[in-house]
Amino acid sequence: MTTHRICLLPGDGIGPEITAEAVKVLEAIGRRFGVRFEFEEALLGGAAIDATGTALPDETLAAAQSADAVLLAAIGGPKWDSTDPDAPRPEQGLLGIRKALGLYANLRPVRIFEPLIGASTLKPEALEGVDMLIVRELTGGLYFGPRAREREVEGAGAGGSRGMRAYDTCVYTEMEIERIARVAFEAARGRRGRVHSVDKANVLESSRLWREVVHRVHDAEYADVELADQLVDNTAMQLIRYPAQFDVILTENMFGDILSDEASMLTGSLGMLASASLGDGTALYEPSHGSAPDIAGQGVANPLAMLLSVELMLRHSFAMHEAADALARAIEGVLADGWRTRDIAGPETLPQRTVGTSAMGDLVAERI
Ligand code: NAD
Repeated sequence: MTTHRICLLPGDGIGPEITAEAVKVLEAIGRRFGVRFEFEEALLGGAAIDATGTALPDETLAAAQSADAVLLAAIGGPKWDSTDPDAPRPEQGLLGIRKALGLYANLRPVRIFEPLIGASTLKPEALEGVDMLIVRELTGGLYFGPRAREREVEGAGAGGSRGMRAYDTCVYTEMEIERIARVAFEAARGRRGRVHSVDKANVLESSRLWREVVHRVHDAEYADVELADQLVDNTAMQLIRYPAQFDVILTENMFGDILSDEASMLTGSLGMLASASLGDGTALYEPSHGSAPDIAGQGVANPLAMLLSVELMLRHSFAMHEAADALARAIEGVLADGWRTRDIAGPETLPQRTVGTSAMGDLVAERI
């Protein structure tokens, strides 16, 4: 029997609750499709800081590197928020593992589930035909460039300001842009063949290099794909105005972070958006939402973004397309039958069909 080894990183907040549902559903998939999933759990983020003093312990990295795939829930929470630049931060775990595994491509599919159209704040007609993939560069840009906090020279700032100043630097190399551009163009070939490359080339030098390199890769290797440049501020507006125009959105790290949260609202809830982070080695799958500390421990978190991340894992890491289809159908079926967690419940939801995290996991697992 084939065995797939999965490193589980439940993290913080609602992380452990939604991870339990992922395991439940994977076990159901294992039974139905005759494969074995082996799980190894490791600490990341705030939970790791509490236990070891660091957000990414060496054992966690080793467990992730030796697994066939990594499934991460979410990290962070107010307990570890600090303005002390020397204090360990949960995000260091997330950024550290992305960097260490070389996960430079983050894929976030945004699709509308018909039964949830009412959960979106947009009019139903604005959502017709929405099916996009956001390809976000994940290991470059502002999140990884040189940064510092230093004492500013007295009188140097406007109005003679003094005290501290801080900066982060957005750095991209041609190689980083080339490889993420290829991911986007390849993805577009398997979809509707259209890429919007999003930048801020009217202001930023890094964006001008971005645009130049994306076009060079396109013209040399992917001339069959339609390519359009779009400024990030315009994209933020177009995502709400006419989201169906987008097929693949290719963008850098921070723009992708912000635009994908915005795009998640097309689907009605952050609780419905999954992501795959791919590089040259072990891939990592995680929901796009955070650790939702406001609802942690209450058993009401929506596990579906986590389960949709499992679907991506089945496809990209294990080539289990039949199982991935079965999982997608199970989720669609549960939603079509009116079952909702609180975040996606609408005025039309029957009170008896509003369920918690564990019951939602059961409903999906039963349908596998
Ligand atoms: P968040 O995504 O955790 O929550 C935003 C809102 O969406 C909250 O009201 C929350 O209850 C709700 N929500 C999120 N996921 C949900 C789910 N599965 N089911 C139901 N409701 C859900 O974002 P935030 O509040 O800005 O951040 C909270 C913490 O998470 C912070 O510490 C932040 O740094 C961290 N964070 C982590 C990640 C990650 O691990 N990849 C991503 C974003 C934020």
